[in-house]
Amino acid sequence: MSSPGAEPSIFSRIVAREIPATIVAENDHLIAFEDIAPQAPVHIVITTKTAEYANVVELAAGDPTLLAELVRMASTIADERTQGEFRLVFNSGAAAGQTVFHVHAHVMGVRDDSATLGEGSLGSL
Ligand code: AMP
Repeated sequence: MSSPGAEPSIFSRIVAREIPATIVAENDHLIAFEDIAPQAPVHIVITTKTAEYANVVELAAGDPTLLAELVRMASTIADERTQGEFRLVFNSGAAAGQTVFHVHAHVMGVRDDSATLGEGSLGSL
């Protein structure tokens, strides 16, 4: 959980429209936008509008319904932007590559049936 008085995360600043992002989906609780440094042909970040949860473990414990809603949004985005199959990654902790401590998922995929995601795109996140 973020500490009181901490600076807003970069994702809170995207939610507040203080910094630009290419937003691809949004509802009352979640926002999805293109990753600024894509690691796959389709690479979308989905984050919660609340900054209450630092990682997916905290989100699962604190609001499992919101986690399920996030997974549904990932599936919808994949249906719209890939051939429907996708990788969903939650980096949890700095040692796992997490750099933004505001829970988010990476939705990654390819646009057409002839391509597949390489395993390498997982390791670089
Ligand atoms: P993680 O390393 O799992 O914490 O993921 C953070 C992700 O946020 C990285 O893939 C970054 O490329 C992405 N990112 C950071 N800043 C921005 C931004 N301003 N707009 C879009 N994506 C961003």
